[in-house]
Amino acid sequence: MRRTKPSGGSTPKHAVLLFCRQCVGEERGKKENCQGDEISCPFYRFRLGKGRPVIAHIRRQCLICMNGAKKEVLDCDTVNCSLWAYRLGNNPIRTGVGGGRRE
Ligand code: SF4
Repeated sequence: MRRTKPSGGSTPKHAVLLFCRQCVGEERGKKENCQGDEISCPFYRFRLGKGRPVIAHIRRQCLICMNGAKKEVLDCDTVNCSLWAYRLGNNPIRTGVGGGRRE
């Protein structure tokens, strides 16, 4: 099976860093000036490249973006968003990886 590389971030961490960069206006070094906080943004603690966000953080941000509407996240057509490939709460790169349950 051929795996599809997601558009935007090549890993969840990379996707989050690209998203933060877009959020503060695309300029490098501006992430230190982020006006967010731990409560309002699931990426706040990862904005400087430390730590490792998981897909659930991305899913949470997508639900915030779409005011909690899961159907809107599913139907999101903003394919140039760095989070888009991860919006459904799974990692397309890892699809089919792992053994699953063996009989
Ligand atoms: S992928 Fe879609 S729902 Fe998720 S943050 Fe980007 S624009 Fe919003």
